[in-house]
Amino acid sequence: MTPPAGRCLTDAELAGVMSAPPGAVPEEHARHLAACARCQQRALFGAERRPEARRREAKPPSLRRTLLLAALALAAVAFFFWSFGQLAGGAR
Ligand SMILES: [Zn+2]
Repeated sequence: MTPPAGRCLTDAELAGVMSAPPGAVPEEHARHLAACARCQQRALFGAERRPEARRREAKPPSLRRTLLLAALALAAVAFFFWSFGQLAGGAR
């Protein structure tokens, strides 16, 4: 998306657009906001984007939980093969 002609809105202009009732926004500002992704992001997320706020990494699960999950998965697989063996053996 190419930036629209003209400069971006200032923080004060953006605040004015956000607080104005619909229809009362200066057309020039509304036009720019409709076409400019940067100003839309500023309007939605604040003046500047904070990259670390969005990129907060999930904590890795603890080793105990990982081992517990692995054991449960292994038990489920073992049970599957056991029940499969029961079925196959019972059919004979
Ligand atoms: Zn802009």
